[in-house]
Amino acid sequence: MTTLTSLPQERQLVTAIPGPKSLEALKRRTEATSGGLGMAIPVVIERASDAILLDIDGNQIIDLGSGIGVTNVGNAASRVVDRVIDQVQAFTHTCFTVAPYMGYIEVCEKLNSLMPGSFKKKSLLVNSGAEAVENAIKIARHYTKRQAIVVFEHSYHGRTNLTMALTAKNMPYKEGFGPFAPEIYRVPMPYAYRWIGDKATITQDALDMVTHKIEKEIGAHNVAAILIEPIQGEGGFIVPPKGFLPGLSKFAQDNGIVFIADEVQTGFARTGHMFAVEEESVVPDMVVTAKGIAGGLPLAAVTGRAEIMDSSHASGLGGTYGGNPIACAAALGVFETMEAEKLVERARHIGDLLGASLKALQAKYPVIGEVRGRGAMQAIELIKPGTMDPNTEAMNAVVKYCQSKGVLILTAGTYSNVIRFLPPIVITDELLQDALSVLDEAFASL
Ligand SMILES: *Cc1c(COP(=O)(O)O)cnc(C)c1O
Repeated sequence: MTTLTSLPQERQLVTAIPGPKSLEALKRRTEATSGGLGMAIPVVIERASDAILLDIDGNQIIDLGSGIGVTNVGNAASRVVDRVIDQVQAFTHTCFTVAPYMGYIEVCEKLNSLMPGSFKKKSLLVNSGAEAVENAIKIARHYTKRQAIVVFEHSYHGRTNLTMALTAKNMPYKEGFGPFAPEIYRVPMPYAYRWIGDKATITQDALDMVTHKIEKEIGAHNVAAILIEPIQGEGGFIVPPKGFLPGLSKFAQDNGIVFIADEVQTGFARTGHMFAVEEESVVPDMVVTAKGIAGGLPLAAVTGRAEIMDSSHASGLGGTYGGNPIACAAALGVFETMEAEKLVERARHIGDLLGASLKALQAKYPVIGEVRGRGAMQAIELIKPGTMDPNTEAMNAVVKYCQSKGVLILTAGTYSNVIRFLPPIVITDELLQDALSVLDEAFASL
């Protein structure tokens, strides 16, 4: 039983944003916390439920970011909270590689059954998306006895040393933080909106470019893994054209290359599938998950073909906190919620509603160059009207306007000109409509 009652799912402002208490608290933030940390909205949060954040001044803010695609089942979802309370009272830690417990095993069983593919699968649990990506690479290299890793333009895979090397964008992720890990090769991404070639043949042209680079510049037999986000997240919700992922997966299979899908942002019902690769029936050898897996408790996973996941020597993989029992309890609550509340279907419904509304805004405001995404993962790319020039100023102005009215939206994009929408998948239609009306006002105010 949850002790706190949930917040009404309504936007309500009682002070300016930020209010006086947040302003005071943010002075302490500046004093106490590293200047290297960013901040999307300048308010301090006291409570949250589902798609509403309550700040310390009493303002109720609509959350269209889910803490970067994490609280898919809603903030402080009751099934998550209840399981976490039970687990924290039972025990808090043993270290799974010291003395195992059922929560870890049950999360892995569930992941194995959810991941596409009829073959036997096994999983490994760690703490963060970046750590999961690192482990996927470790395992793929060990399994193939090869070193090269192929990644894509506009990709994002994390902030640790290896994952910085895998990530495309320099500022803010890499600037001054090198040297970076070797044996990482970046290949073109078919970003349709900004593709300079013939858009009619983009899929085949991109596949030709990628396979040419792999065969002629790296040597396919040297490649351990191809790592790709099925829809790129931080890069700006870039959706690969139909046929690209299947073509890539086939090339990997033909060349003994491990095909890894980074579903950290796209996973767990977000795109209207449990995993985004399902849209085109792509079956990766390994899937990396994190963000939406445990409602905000730190958990991440690598799930893959059993023979790959078993290829490492015993004790070659692990970590002190990986698959912490409380985080596992939360994940089991997430899986339960996704099924009980039919969140895959719900994400499609949100996609229809959000997509249609964003398209209507695009027709009204020429600053919106493109609407793209899938399910509850949608974005708009902003341009200077009549050109293809990125419009960062408009993005910042819209974000600021929405914040001042109590709507939290996030940005993205290689060119810092994308507004992305990642609402909790449990958001009510009414709350989403309210947020969209604020967004409309924001564009009107430009
Ligand atoms: C966020 C993200 C990561 C990194 O996850 P962290 O938990 O922040 O380390 C990796 N890949 C993708 C696609 C992501 O969106």
